[in-house]
Amino acid sequence: MADTKQVIQVAVPRPLHSVYDYHVDGDMALPALGARLRVPFGRSEVIGICVSTHVDNPHAKTKPVSEVLDHDAAIDSELLDLAQWMQSYYHYPLGEVLATVLPSAARKGLQLEIKPEPPPDIWHLVDPSLISPRAKTQQAVVDHLLHMGDAQSGEALEAAGFNRSMLRKLEGIGVLERKVVSVRHQTSEALSPSSEQQTAINAINAAVGFNVFLLEGVTGSGKTEVYLQSMAKMLATGKQVLVLVPEIALTPQTLARFENRFGSAGMVHSGLSETQRLQTWLKCRAGEIKVLIGTRSAVFTPFESLGLIIVDEEHDSSYKQQDGLRYSARDLTVKRAQQLDIPLVLGSATPSLESFYNAKRGRYQHVLLTQRAGGAKMPRYHTIDLRGQSLRGGLSDTLIRVIRSHLEANGQVLVYLNRRGFAPTLVCKACGWQSVCSDCDARLTLHRQPEQLVCHHCSLRFTLPTHCEQCGHHDLLPVGMGTQRAEESLAELFPDIPLYRIDRDTTRSNAQLTAQLEKIQRGDSCIMVGTQMLAKGHHFPEVTLVAVINADAGFLSPDFRAPERTAQLVVQVAGRAGRAEKQGDVWIQSYQPENPLLQKLMSQGYRGFAEAELSSRLQAGLPPAQPMAMLRAEAFDPTLAREFLTHCKAALESAAGSQQDTATVEILGPIPAPMARVAKRARFQLVVMAATRPALHRVLASLGQPKTHSSLRWSIDVDPYDAM
Ligand code: ADP
Ligand code: ZN
Ligand code: ZN
Repeated sequence: MADTKQVIQVAVPRPLHSVYDYHVDGDMALPALGARLRVPFGRSEVIGICVSTHVDNPHAKTKPVSEVLDHDAAIDSELLDLAQWMQSYYHYPLGEVLATVLPSAARKGLQLEIKPEPPPDIWHLVDPSLISPRAKTQQAVVDHLLHMGDAQSGEALEAAGFNRSMLRKLEGIGVLERKVVSVRHQTSEALSPSSEQQTAINAINAAVGFNVFLLEGVTGSGKTEVYLQSMAKMLATGKQVLVLVPEIALTPQTLARFENRFGSAGMVHSGLSETQRLQTWLKCRAGEIKVLIGTRSAVFTPFESLGLIIVDEEHDSSYKQQDGLRYSARDLTVKRAQQLDIPLVLGSATPSLESFYNAKRGRYQHVLLTQRAGGAKMPRYHTIDLRGQSLRGGLSDTLIRVIRSHLEANGQVLVYLNRRGFAPTLVCKACGWQSVCSDCDARLTLHRQPEQLVCHHCSLRFTLPTHCEQCGHHDLLPVGMGTQRAEESLAELFPDIPLYRIDRDTTRSNAQLTAQLEKIQRGDSCIMVGTQMLAKGHHFPEVTLVAVINADAGFLSPDFRAPERTAQLVVQVAGRAGRAEKQGDVWIQSYQPENPLLQKLMSQGYRGFAEAELSSRLQAGLPPAQPMAMLRAEAFDPTLAREFLTHCKAALESAAGSQQDTATVEILGPIPAPMARVAKRARFQLVVMAATRPALHRVLASLGQPKTHSSLRWSIDVDPYDAM
């Protein structure tokens, strides 16, 4: 029945052109917008999304749709709009944007159907003394229940790393008891808010329609309580709430804080299986889940009636996807809140300069929490000038004395440094040769246990050289500090004190982190040494001292965002000190303690730093004053990558010229990337700056599909996070 043939447009998950015309035969119902369809593509079939049923100039020859997978939309109209907006904002093919938006199980064609689930199992502690001695995991379950409060759901325990077969075993020997319940009730009452918290809650509750709040609250000021009380108000009206948290903060502790207040909360995070993720997605869409807590990709969840979005630690880098579709989940929440006409709360102790600038310009409402909750005081800052000091494993005598005095006063001590491994480099004492990676332009980090050299860029591992490759000398010296070395020196200096190292090498799983944090949170005097894993979100009431081994590198890096990132890290890690009754102290070692940015931070806090840094960005015309995009290219053959970007530059310049954007668009490069070779590929970059967003998007759009080579990888990164 050729005359009833109806042409539609389908977005397919392919990088080139992303939408194609197909037709549905007369006996097939016209698919809904946003429905998944199976269509022939090339020599195979793919699953695409119907994006238009009104095609103005259909192709003469179209192929038929093979199968319509959904009666209704898989992607609702709001998400479809969001996807179309992302296509033009991130200059990424629509079909691939939609593939990112859909959960992977849906992308593969699984039915969009909510499966009934058995009611949650809740585990109680009956007799902890019955565990087998020396069974470490059994002890860990008991510790966990003692710490988190009795009665945890099997799901929460599984997220903490304890599987159900182990729980059943403990049930068998009488340690645990299981109850099956239909609903989990709240167990914690709202705290009575401070006047600052109350002001913030009132402001958020009073919002009608689209409003963005920048909740800038010092570390320990009780931002979570503000979230919880604003959420409670919204939930009472029957609306749903989306809470985004940074990857590293999605711990059982975080989930428990929300669960204890609202009963079982839905969760989406990387730990879920594909089908669990799809179920969560469907239940949010059906309105069955009222509170969803998730990381970056949870921003793509459909909701039946979303009333409020909260982004905790809005400055966190994990909100930016660093490959494929390089979106910022934080920025997308602004777009979604605007589309849905609802309030959005961006919370942080150290707001990004982008959000800070928007608050200053009056686009966001700036709400401040200047005091710590519950009467805790802000920590005191001190610097240690490292010049001329003799160091023991990176620690100055002053710092060692300070650590000792805090331990003697029964405090906990947190030692922060930004490098895992033993030492960042191995150097020949005779000629200065350094061990470098065979495949990258990077020095190798020395690791112990096992003893090896590791490339932190491509993960290659090498055996330790016995002699210098350049002069043959045998004396190779580890230079610089890593967490393993700090751990070793601290263990020698304080042999009787429990010591916990927390970095990606010691803490691979959630269960490991949970177990470590629980031991620490028992409150006995101890030392923690670790990377930024320790800096974020954790509430350590007994920590009285935070030591920053070296703050210099971040303030001297060529990346224009490095000072901002460093200041955020320092303030966040410092914020772990003195969160309860005991006063906290922060000691920062530096070879240039007079650095003006560091000084600003110490004397005026993050706010003073942010003001100063923002005004220098505005003066230099850098983001957020002007929007930026980065084109990156990499190939085994450096010429290929460089020439590709040179062609792009010419195309962009001619587009800027023809559109009278010449004066407002600036293109810098191509230059080698800061890490100019990784895994044997040479990397180049081109920076595009424009006076306005429309000008930036006009020139980027003109690039279209540049001619590439199969061995070349390239990408456009709009609002790049790693910029130089
Ligand atoms: P932030 O996220 O702002 O760093 P948190 O939300 O973790 O701070 O709160 C820090 C601590 O203060 C928590 O232990 C929290 O229970 C407590 N707290 C928050 N608000 C209040 C309040 N109104 N009264 C008493 N304690 C509070
Ligand atoms: Zn040598
Ligand atoms: Zn390497």
